[in-house]
Amino acid sequence: MLKIDSPLTPIEEIKWPLLKEKGLRLFIKREDISHPYISGNKWRKLKYHLLEADKLGKNTLVTYGGAFSNHILATAAAGAKYGFRTYGFIRGERVENTVLQLSELFGMELHFVSRTDYKEKGQLFQKHFGLNQNVYEIPEGGGGDLGEKGVAEMLVDIKDFKCNHLFTSVGTGSTLKGIIRGIENQSLSIKAHGIVVLKGAEEMANEYHSFDSNLYRLHFNFHRGGYAKSDSELTAFIKSFASKTGILLDQVYEGKMLIGILSLAEQNYFKPGESILAIHNGGVIGLTGLMDKK
Ligand SMILES: *Cc1c(COP(=O)(O)O)cnc(C)c1O
Repeated sequence: MLKIDSPLTPIEEIKWPLLKEKGLRLFIKREDISHPYISGNKWRKLKYHLLEADKLGKNTLVTYGGAFSNHILATAAAGAKYGFRTYGFIRGERVENTVLQLSELFGMELHFVSRTDYKEKGQLFQKHFGLNQNVYEIPEGGGGDLGEKGVAEMLVDIKDFKCNHLFTSVGTGSTLKGIIRGIENQSLSIKAHGIVVLKGAEEMANEYHSFDSNLYRLHFNFHRGGYAKSDSELTAFIKSFASKTGILLDQVYEGKMLIGILSLAEQNYFKPGESILAIHNGGVIGLTGLMDKK
């Protein structure tokens, strides 16, 4: 039977003049260093999918993602590490970038599909793998119940860490949901916050109605123009953060999350004396991917 050990990732304090001025402390949980390529929430979300695939006796993982998807790379690397063949449906025309090259190095077979076909994942799967009994399908981004379960487990590591607010960036939102589940499971008095990196995504709030609304807060005004949209202020912030802390942030998710946290501090959203813990979910390989594109 497959065994997957949880990574133990450190929590580091970030010194930043604004935070000191506001009487706040900010910590980062370095999930980004859990594994160089299966990093952050992707590791957490894959864990129970892999265990399930193993339990069902499947030897091939099939999943979906965009050309810069951290989930695609994580699945390729995890598949190689834990003995699965991997197959990725990639949205759009064939492109070359670090994320895809590394995924192929890890043995993933890539299949590029048009944006229209990509929307019909059920049909794609049926057409290519409908009769194949060896295949385990992982949803895009690694979410779903099993993905959230893996993220919820991270709260076990955090339960003795005293903080008032816990932040994550939000793409599909399965990480945030897992975090809220973890807070519920451990009965922690921490508020979960999601910095949403997609534009016009306010409707996603409907997916959270099963949770007690006091447990979490979604922030919709830090997307900076939308998913993967970058600007010179964001790039300058990432540079400044890296040079002052030694921590790299990607442009798609974690750079926007940190700017969001600092903006909220600036607006006196937090009370003096409070502590904030931000989860760094990796994605730095995607950053080099974005640089390749230019
Ligand atoms: C995938 C990813 C996210 C978003 O996670 P969701 O569960 O889709 O909300 C955030 N940060 C990084 C670095 C990621 O790779």
